[in-house]
Amino acid sequence: MTPPDLVKFLGTAGARYVVARQLRSSAGTFIQLGGKRIILDPGPGTLVRLAKSKPAVDVAKLDAIILSHAHIDHSNDVNVIVDAMTEGGFKRRGFLFAPRECLEGKNAVILDYLRNFLDGIVTLEAQREYSFEGVGFSTSVPHDHGTETYGVSFQRSAGKIAFMVDTRYFPGLLKSYEGADILVMNVVRLKPHRSGEVRHLCADDAREILAALRPRKAVLTHFGMTMLRAKPWLVAQRLSDELGLDVTAASDGMTLDLD
Ligand SMILES: [Zn+2]
Repeated sequence: MTPPDLVKFLGTAGARYVVARQLRSSAGTFIQLGGKRIILDPGPGTLVRLAKSKPAVDVAKLDAIILSHAHIDHSNDVNVIVDAMTEGGFKRRGFLFAPRECLEGKNAVILDYLRNFLDGIVTLEAQREYSFEGVGFSTSVPHDHGTETYGVSFQRSAGKIAFMVDTRYFPGLLKSYEGADILVMNVVRLKPHRSGEVRHLCADDAREILAALRPRKAVLTHFGMTMLRAKPWLVAQRLSDELGLDVTAASDGMTLDLD
């Protein structure tokens, strides 16, 4: 029997202060689709949360890792997970998908000796389609985040589930997420930062984006301190009421059942 399609938010931390103090876990997002198991953005604590999750997720059964970008809160555990999922290289298996900046150059995040443990390493580019073992996904336009960053959308027969990862809001962002049935958004801040230099979404951006896209369901995650203080579930409730949409704030360990 194929295991159910689901998304499990192992962690929901989003900014330096929240990550450094682990006010929320900074573990990544576990996605199970068509019987395949994927980790998106394995930040610090992902390996621990996989093991401690109830029910535990067997790291040796992961099929793919996707990095949206190289920032430490999205990529810290990638190496240890590659090692674990391939049993230290004794079982060559699994795929890694990541933008070029994660793989080459000064900020490359994958240790060289681990690379041939995997069945494949695929360089992500903007607005392209990818697939592995029957699971298909596409990348967004480049996000405005200061480092090479792409959101990802998985096409399912029941509708598209999209992950709008770290970015500053810009009008061209929306076209990559049109038609999403479920939209997961990294909403780090409550209000825009005064400097205008913070390349993250805030709750005001989320309102504008959701009003335009109107997904069947939205999930907010990746919270910084201003969102935690405002209580993410209250922010989500307010957006739900204002927009007449189903908006939920993720919490650590929350499972979203897709079936
Ligand atoms: Zn980032």
